This record gives sequence, C-alpha cells and structure tokens, in this order.
Amino acid sequence: MKPIIELKGVDFYYDKGKPSEVHALRDANLEIKPGEYISFFGPSGCGKSTILYIISGVEQPEKGKVIVNGQDLIDFSFKELAVYRQLGIGIIFQNFNLIPSIKNIENVALPMAFLGISPNIRKKKAMEIFERLGIADLANRYPYELSGGQQQRVGIARALANDPPIILADEPIGNLDSDNATKVLNLLKEFNLKDGKTIIMVTHEAWSLRDVGRIFYMRDGAITKVETRKPEKVKKINSSYYYKKLFPELPTIETRSKTLATLILRGYSQQEIKRLEYFLTQRFKNQIDKDLLRRVLDRPFKENGVGLWKQKAEKIAEYVEGVIKEEKELEILYKKLEKNPEEPLYEEVQRIYSWLLEGCSFTLTPFQKERMNEAINERIRNIITAENFQKILDLAKDRGGVGLRIKTSLKIAEKLETILGRSKSNLVI
Ligand code: ADP
Ligand code: MG
Repeated sequence: MKPIIELKGVDFYYDKGKPSEVHALRDANLEIKPGEYISFFGPSGCGKSTILYIISGVEQPEKGKVIVNGQDLIDFSFKELAVYRQLGIGIIFQNFNLIPSIKNIENVALPMAFLGISPNIRKKKAMEIFERLGIADLANRYPYELSGGQQQRVGIARALANDPPIILADEPIGNLDSDNATKVLNLLKEFNLKDGKTIIMVTHEAWSLRDVGRIFYMRDGAITKVETRKPEKVKKINSSYYYKKLFPELPTIETRSKTLATLILRGYSQQEIKRLEYFLTQRFKNQIDKDLLRRVLDRPFKENGVGLWKQKAEKIAEYVEGVIKEEKELEILYKKLEKNPEEPLYEEVQRIYSWLLEGCSFTLTPFQKERMNEAINERIRNIITAENFQKILDLAKDRGGVGLRIKTSLKIAEKLETILGRSKSNLVI
C-alpha cells in the first residue's frame, strides 16, 4: 500500500536568519501507511508539534518534501490544500482549543460549516458523534461547564466532524488525569482499529505508547530511532480521502458521453450504446447541433443512426440539451467554489433541484424539498457519494430522508450524475 504521508529530508527553522533562529526539524524522513497508528515521542522542545504543523501543511519546510497521498504538498492548489485540511485531517490538541462562547455541539458542527453543510444536518451529524462517544449529555452545554476530560472528548468529537482518514493528536492526554487519559487512548485505539483511521499521536509519556504500532523517537529536531511494535491489525482501511475530493474535476467529454449513453439506452445493445456515445461526444464538442443529433438518433441503425423511434429520439435530444445547459452552469458553480469553498449555493442548488424534478408528476412537501436540496448541496461538494445521495432520497421521511420511491430516487440520482459524471454503473440495481 502506498504511504498516506511521506516526509523526505525535511528541514524546518523558526525565525530563520535571526539571532533567535531555531533549527526545529533536521532531515526528517518517514513514511506512514494508511491505517497505521504511529507516535512521535521525545522530550519537550524536540520538535514533535513542529512535525505535526509540517504534516498538516500549517508550516512549509525550508528543505525537503511533504507528500500526501503521493502528491507533494507544495504542488497542492489552494483548493487542494483546503480539501486536505478540512477533509483529510482532524486535529486533537493538548489544551482542547474549544471556542468558549459557543456550545459544545456548535464547536463540533463548526468544521462542517466550512464545507457548506446546512445547520440542520450539521447538528444532526454532530449529535451522532456525541452519541458515539457517549457524551450526548454534554452537547448543549458550554465548554467552560465541563471538566478537562469532558472537554477533551468534545475536542475529539470535533476532530471527527468531517470523518477525516487521518487524526493528528498533539499530546492529547497531556492535561488529563490517568482515568481520562486512558479513556482518550481507548478512543484513539478504537478509531484506528475499527474505523481504520491513520493516527499520528505526539506524546512525551511512555505509557501512552501502549497501542502504537511504530514509535519515532525524537531529539533536538531529529528522528533518532524508529521502533516497530507488533500492532494489532486494523479491521478496515478507511481511505476515504482517496476519493473524497471536495472539488472534483468535471468529467471529460468522453466520460460524460459514456455515462449518459449507458443511462439513456439502458437495456439496449452495446453497439447501440456505443453509437449513441459517439454522437453525444460530437454534440458535446459542438460538432453537430441539436437538430442533427435528433435526426441521427431517429435514423435507422443500418444507415449509421441510432435507430430510435421518432418520439424517443426527440425526448432524448431534449434531455441532452438539458444536460449540456446544466453542465455549463455547474462549471460556473465550481469556479465559485474554487474561489471560496464556503460559498453558499442556494440559487444554484434550487436550479438543479428544478431540473432534476422536471417531468416528474408529483410535488414535494417543503420538508422533502429542503432535505433534497441539502442532499444536492452535499453531493455537488462531494461530501456524500452518489450512493449516499440516492439513499437520502429513498430513505423514509421520519428517518431523515426525502421519502421518494426507489425507482424515482435512482432516476434522480442518475440524472444528477450525468452532469457530475463521477459514478458510472454503481447506481444500477
Ligand atoms: P515539542 O512539541 O516537542 O515540545 P516544538 O515542536 O514545539 O517541540 O518546538 C521545537 C523547537 O522549536 C523548540 O526549541 C521550541 O522552543 C521552538 N519553537 C517552537 N515554536 C516556536 C515558535 N513559534 N517560534 C520560535 N521557536 C519555536
Ligand atoms: Mg509540543
């Protein structure tokens, strides 16, 4: 398996060139694989926090490379860095770092706000995390009303908010009594073993290394020794970061044509699908116009057409025009998100909603509509997968879904994918 994090010859200075200069990291080299639980261990001031800042992209090395998922951090675009920081990692601090003026649940929901998730969903998801950690009773209180151990569990809940594959914990038990420290270590172990998260923990207390698979000993900014312990096997590797990209690229014309052709001619022969694919590509490239597309759809297969009935040809030509139009809108929308990941997308989502329901004979209640718009928003931002999107549409209203019939939810989810173009056949029942 390829490393999730690599450091190659990393050097880092504070106050470089000043009399106060500190050479905080010296030629750091390491590889961390997805699902590992590792620790940086060493005395105060040896550079443990600094190495976390480097890994999280807060600080850039003077020399050397930081490689995430095979890609050099230095080559990350602004948006890729934002994706990495918001979805790739969750950070747990020694002093908890909760915002005192807002309730605990709001602290946990906050990282989701940066992804544009609506307040209702944020609260719901945050509450699920509180429940998982067994601290639901703390959700509606303020951080200052809690003990240190309780605050740290809220801090952990916050680190989990966006379900990152990597957890960075900087002396997470440093301010806790041994009972609470044990609870926190148990949680880290659970996230590693059960959720397959990669855990990177900084500590200067030897006993807290009990569950760690590899220990990087540090002294004066250098990794002096690496010790491998026999780690327990993680159950499943959560590599969501590999596909979870907040701002995915739009699909190529070829991919789009293929997705669309397969969808439109489901049940037809491969030959017919291939031919439609060819004409769609031409239409997307604007080499043929709408009218010509309609005619070749209608033309017999033997005469190099697709051989559809006239009415069906017309319907499909219309549908394709809709896809082209929406795709253009989506491009504009992505540009907006690229500039500002927090940009609210009310109008755009509303547009897509109307387009998705075009031709449907039923109407949705305001509640269903709101839920569906939230799901569209999350799908556009790639917070949820196509399957999740479809499940939300399908799920009963009293369980937080839109409550559509399965056939309808599939049709709508597929339609959305024709412009997003990210899933191919995985929606097919
Ligand atoms: P650790 O987390 O292991 O205690 P740090 O990474 O915080 O160590 O610090 C490494 C070295 O860098 C120490 O000598 C520390 O004094 C110095 N240092 C840390 N942060 C700063 C800073 N913001 N400015 C200048 N020096 C710093
Ligand atoms: Mg430190």
